[in-house]
Amino acid sequence: MEGGCLCGAVRYRLASAPDDAGWCHCRTCQLNSGSPAMAFATVPTDDFVFTQGVDLVGKIASSDFGHRRFCTRCGTPFLMQVDHQPDTVDFSIATLDEPDGVTPGFHIFYASRIAWAEACDALPRHDRFRPDTRGLSPD
Ligand SMILES: [Zn+2]
Ligand SMILES: [Zn+2]
Repeated sequence: MEGGCLCGAVRYRLASAPDDAGWCHCRTCQLNSGSPAMAFATVPTDDFVFTQGVDLVGKIASSDFGHRRFCTRCGTPFLMQVDHQPDTVDFSIATLDEPDGVTPGFHIFYASRIAWAEACDALPRHDRFRPDTRGLSPD
């Protein structure tokens, strides 16, 4: 699978099939995307490969435990990575050339949803992280 940004400067390729796709309604995703939520899927870190415009890819510390990468020319958000899961990245499904091919299976940070952005599906909804999230102790 391949994807890229709005301006076309940055392109990437997935070296393996993504899994664990889901929606995130957290405030950081809202600000990062300008949308009520973002849809992510997961691949091993080495399997997300920038194939064009890598020098235009920016990095921002989006929390005290993670960072995001984006196109510095047009702003398209590509991926997020958290320190406690260094072996995987979560990329924005919508940036795939064919995003229909990866379907979200859950919602996280649903407690942070914008009131008018109720999900109209029957997927599992978690107020914050999923209970089994690797590297996080249940709170
Ligand atoms: Zn761009
Ligand atoms: Zn989020």
